[in-house]
Amino acid sequence: MINCNHFVNESVMAGDERTNFIGGQWRGDAQGEVRAQLSPIDGSEIGPLTWSTRATARDAIEAARTAQKGWRKVSTWDRARAMRRIGDVIGSRREELARLLTLEQGKPYAEAYFEVGKSIDGFNLAADLVKYLEGTTIPTEDPTKRVMTFYQPRGVYAVVTPWNFPVNIPVEYIAPGLAAGNAIVWTPAPTTSLIAVALTRAIEEADLPPGIFNLVTGAGKEVGDEIVSNPGTDAVGFTGSALTGKIISQRAAGKPQLMELGGNGPVIILDDADLDRAAAATASGSFVNAGQVCSSSERILVHRRIYDAFAERMAEEARKVVLGDPRKPETTMGPLNNPAVAQKVSDHVADALDRGAQAMTGARRPEGALSPLYYEPTILTGVSRDAVINSEETFGPVAPLIAFDTDEEALEMAHDSRYGLVSSVFTQDINRAFHFVEEMPTGIVNINDTSNYWELHIPFGGVSGKDSGIGRVGGRYALAAMCDLKTATFTVR
Ligand code: NAD
Repeated sequence: MINCNHFVNESVMAGDERTNFIGGQWRGDAQGEVRAQLSPIDGSEIGPLTWSTRATARDAIEAARTAQKGWRKVSTWDRARAMRRIGDVIGSRREELARLLTLEQGKPYAEAYFEVGKSIDGFNLAADLVKYLEGTTIPTEDPTKRVMTFYQPRGVYAVVTPWNFPVNIPVEYIAPGLAAGNAIVWTPAPTTSLIAVALTRAIEEADLPPGIFNLVTGAGKEVGDEIVSNPGTDAVGFTGSALTGKIISQRAAGKPQLMELGGNGPVIILDDADLDRAAAATASGSFVNAGQVCSSSERILVHRRIYDAFAERMAEEARKVVLGDPRKPETTMGPLNNPAVAQKVSDHVADALDRGAQAMTGARRPEGALSPLYYEPTILTGVSRDAVINSEETFGPVAPLIAFDTDEEALEMAHDSRYGLVSSVFTQDINRAFHFVEEMPTGIVNINDTSNYWELHIPFGGVSGKDSGIGRVGGRYALAAMCDLKTATFTVR
């Protein structure tokens, strides 16, 4: 049941500056700075946030190292029960968490409620799957040998996450990581750190041994860097931009790394596509979470024969979007999360227009908005291939339409990108669909649905050779990534 009637004057964090959770205790940082966290909705203050120092991050690593020694010996079933307890606590606070998520991140309440729901599913899924984390027995050449493999936790996992799905993305690491017997040290994105505090309070209430789960708030370049590079952490889980991912890869060199980085589609509309379906799905891919999704539909290649008809349908979809205060039930798109992303969106659209594109809708900030972070849903036609929007991730509510003439040209354009995360292809011909599935340079190819189509247990991640990441999150794939594979050999008589 969705209830978003009582946002007004909600005292989110009751002024508590102790936003670090280390060894089971809430702490501030005497050497750190306390800053007011601002809501993107209207710039109002929603609570204090401590920007901690490296020393605090080191304390968290120490606490995690100590606690993990005991946690790895807790039985799988007991760890699974603990994951269920966390899921239950989040469930009992789902509306409260969703309200804070909307206030701090800016997404409409219905989307926030959905996201919190997925985090509950994430803990329950990890509880289910960890019981089936089965190794193997391997026949041997030498008849006196018996060989088996089994999964062991890696140790202390450093987790660094972005602001676009600040509840669900962390849980993609935290739930399988804890279930598998790791301890976690987590640094969330600064602009969505109060929701991280609230999620941590839910985990605290589930009564895990102290030190198993630790939160350190502050700048990525400080505390994030400390937790990924410090020899006290054994592995790294990172979701964020390709640029930061490359820095972290070097700083954490030698550690196992699960990296979920940026994307830039594409979505491909072939000339036999069901255009109504394609436009509805693509527009949803462009505008959900105001386009701030790694898999969003932000590079749309359209066969020239159906280009105008598809563009018209996309414009119709854009006009249906209700942009405004995300606390209101009728709103379907809220503000962008922060000034940096808002600037990037404006810059990319200005560049496309300079290079000859036309705006069918949007391409501007609305007048009289509650803050400068609102941006109208934008459909751009006549976008040239050399526009920045075609090569870089925009991360905003912008759908640029680029024309092509043949399937092979569409594939060539798809390959002409440094990203390779998710793509979509719309066609009614199964043979063409298979051809694209096999040839697309992306980790995920969705046929006839939004590029954002995703389920928790499906492997998700970038293709090799591109800048979209390393490894897969999702269900048993994430669980395996949280573990070392141990090989044991026995000599028998
Ligand atoms: P970002 O790379 O700027 O920041 C991500 C996190 O890294 C933040 O917590 C930040 O504080 C931290 N950080 C920054 N510099 C750091 C450093 N030197 N060392 C350690 N940590 C550091 O990304 P963002 O703007 O927060 O998020 C948007 C990006 O995330 C987009 O590129 C998007 O595509 C990507 N993303 C990818 C996926 C996926 O599953 N592939 C999902 C969501 C978002």
